[in-house]
Amino acid sequence: MATSTLLVDQVDPDRLVKTFLELVAVDSPTGHEEEIGRELTKRFSDLGCTLSQDDVGNLVAVYPGTRDDTVLISTHMDTAGTDVGIKPIIEDGVIKTDGSTILGADDKSGIAGCIELLTLLHASPDVEHPTIEFVISVGEESGLLGSRQMDLSRLSATYGFVLDTAGVIGAITYWAPTSVYLTIDIVGKKAHAGVEPEKGINAVKVAGEAIAAMPLGRIDEETVANIGTITGGEARNIVPGQAQMLGMARSHDQSKLDAQLDAMRQAVEGAAQRHGATADFQAEEIYRTYKIEETEKPYREAARAIEALGIEVFPRKSGGGTDGNFFNAKGIPCVALATGMVDEHATSEHIAIDDMVMACKIMVTIVTQEPE
Ligand SMILES: [Zn+2]
Repeated sequence: MATSTLLVDQVDPDRLVKTFLELVAVDSPTGHEEEIGRELTKRFSDLGCTLSQDDVGNLVAVYPGTRDDTVLISTHMDTAGTDVGIKPIIEDGVIKTDGSTILGADDKSGIAGCIELLTLLHASPDVEHPTIEFVISVGEESGLLGSRQMDLSRLSATYGFVLDTAGVIGAITYWAPTSVYLTIDIVGKKAHAGVEPEKGINAVKVAGEAIAAMPLGRIDEETVANIGTITGGEARNIVPGQAQMLGMARSHDQSKLDAQLDAMRQAVEGAAQRHGATADFQAEEIYRTYKIEETEKPYREAARAIEALGIEVFPRKSGGGTDGNFFNAKGIPCVALATGMVDEHATSEHIAIDDMVMACKIMVTIVTQEPE
């Protein structure tokens, strides 16, 4: 059997960059993944995978292994926001854009790494490796829509890796928060503001008092909360009869999150009561916290590969979620790994070619290293 070291040395930076640029050239703002889905179906099946796509659009590409175990490698095909016509520029070993759009390294750097890995495995059929289930989701940037609706019973992976985080190469995201979306509606009473304001109940004022009474921002080491928008009212001369606040809260600690949500709810109900308004407080869990211990397989395998490449392991607690939150919640323990992307979701998004290459080498090593 060939050694994995051999395969790692075959990671081809030029080919990897070419693949990445070709993927970036296919517009795929979240919710519009048809074209990139077709492109990826073709590429993964040309490289020996069996493809299936669910009703939502999530792709699963299975590459048969030489061993009994099965590993999940997760990426997403959509990009954040609505940017299209992305024009990448390479400068001093860094891929960025002209500054008018995002780059889409989130998550096409992860996908390009998967395609490079597959290219190498496909060309070296004597290298031992597990069966790989590449899961490429849609709607990740719309609140993990794709992975949330995914039926994982058709997967046989027992552990996995999510190639979808920023941070230094060598980072292993082992702990992610629960995220809750908040929709808070206040109903007061409309009235003519000039003629009979005393007949009205000002819903915007209630919302303001509620916000003022809420703990917001960084609550503690594990917990954050935000009210991001407030809308309401109709005209300057009408006492506003309704107001709506949209917000979110996240915590790595479920009980701290529950306490924070209670505090926000009480602030809203207290303000509504004082003014005789009614309040509707909706908290929707978007994804749930997970924590993978150092002793668990995905962490161990990732750390082993990272160290084998002479890189330091950085255990990372993330402030956001990935599709990995759903895989963990549905029973496939996963950690998330850095792809080299920086400033994702911003027009300053970029990626150093060396980092993208090293992230790919980590994945190649994980897949081809000797089983423990
Ligand atoms: Zn992403």
